[in-house]
Amino acid sequence: MNFDLSSDQLNIRNHLHELLKDVCTPEYVKNCDEQEKPPREALDALAKNGWLGLIAPEEYGGAGGSPLDLAVMLDVLGYHFEELGLWVFRNLTYGCYALMKHGTQAQKDMVIPKVITGEVSVCFGLTEPNSGSDASALITKATKDGDDYIINGQKVYTSGMDISDYCILVARTNNFEKKQQGITNFFIDTKLPGIQVKKLATLGQRAIGTTEVFYNEVRTPASSVLGAVDQGWRGADNYLCYERLCLSAARTGAARAAFEFALEHAKTREQFGKPIGKFQAVSHKLADMRVMLDISQTMVYRYAWLVEQGKDTRQDAAALKLYTAESYKAIADMSLQILGGYGYCMEYPLQRFFRDSRLATIGGGSSEIQRNIIASSLGL
Ligand SMILES: Cc1cc2nc3c(=O)[nH]c(=O)nc-3n(C[C@H](O)[C@H](O)[C@H](O)COP(=O)(O)OP(=O)(O)OC[C@H]3O[C@@H](n4cnc5c(N)ncnc54)[C@H](O)[C@@H]3O)c2cc1C
Repeated sequence: MNFDLSSDQLNIRNHLHELLKDVCTPEYVKNCDEQEKPPREALDALAKNGWLGLIAPEEYGGAGGSPLDLAVMLDVLGYHFEELGLWVFRNLTYGCYALMKHGTQAQKDMVIPKVITGEVSVCFGLTEPNSGSDASALITKATKDGDDYIINGQKVYTSGMDISDYCILVARTNNFEKKQQGITNFFIDTKLPGIQVKKLATLGQRAIGTTEVFYNEVRTPASSVLGAVDQGWRGADNYLCYERLCLSAARTGAARAAFEFALEHAKTREQFGKPIGKFQAVSHKLADMRVMLDISQTMVYRYAWLVEQGKDTRQDAAALKLYTAESYKAIADMSLQILGGYGYCMEYPLQRFFRDSRLATIGGGSSEIQRNIIASSLGL
């Protein structure tokens, strides 16, 4: 296992920092958060410079990059603006990775080139009001009707549905004894008649945020099935593991940004005649954060390497998600504390990290669920 980044990967990092320091200024990010405005200009800048094609195959005009390339990119995006990182992760995971794995030729041809140019966005609808952690207990129903399926039900927390062109919708097509069977993934047009989207007010992640979605007699062609009918759970679970890599990379970048802000403050803010970073209570927090960041980044690179080698497991993905999410939450909290009163003021960015990081241990499978996955791999 070699975690050294290649010169190409160092270039990815450097080029993206250069690009985003001009496009994603602190004022721009603050404005997107406060105005609940998706960072469209930043996404367009990434598209214009070819970054949205990073993992797409060359035949589609992409760069055919590796999971580690993607992790490096999402780390930088998360550093500049976590929600930009999450928007890109969704487009690349659901609009490229999932299609390359299970899509038909027509689905790939229809979507991947437009994901690369930033023309279309893609989201993921799994969670329902009564199936969150117990995700495979979902009841949104898709019933075959001639050459179509009719979808009825409700999803919650489909992030970015209101700004997406397509959604991977996970629906029940059959009832078997095991709830994981009889589930099918659909790659649907988000503008189909009968779909109603409502944005939810949330603590953080306000620029794009999340939505609840109502499906009322929605007719979608059978050609929108993604993968095998009734056997979609394995696919959905696989996308979730890839999602855990992406979320962890973007959030480790965001955690580093919070840490650097607090470090700078600890060096410059003076109390009792010296910089507050000279007080052990403050410096030890920063030392702990530095260690958490090192471990998080190493875990991200290691998991990306495992995916590349085809050796990734659900428990590795769970351990990665658990550690990086808990670290991000702790780092955002400690950084805010180091800012003191400034940390609590909306003028400074620490409150945003604090609010945004709170989702890390809940969304994409809570920390408790990650611990359950790890524990069951130990035979418990
Ligand atoms: C802002 C936001 C964005 C999201 N984006 C998406 C998205 O794009 N697409 C999507 O499909 N979903 C999305 N989600 C859903 C997210 O993945 C779920 O919220 C998460 O899986 C938890 O489900 P729940 O909220 O229903 O909580 P519940 O499942 O009701 O859990 C509540 C609490 O009980 C604990 N708990 C539940 N079961 C167990 C257990 N067996 N053992 C121990 N503890 C347990 C949980 O850990 C949690 O602390 C998003 C959620 C939010 C808040």
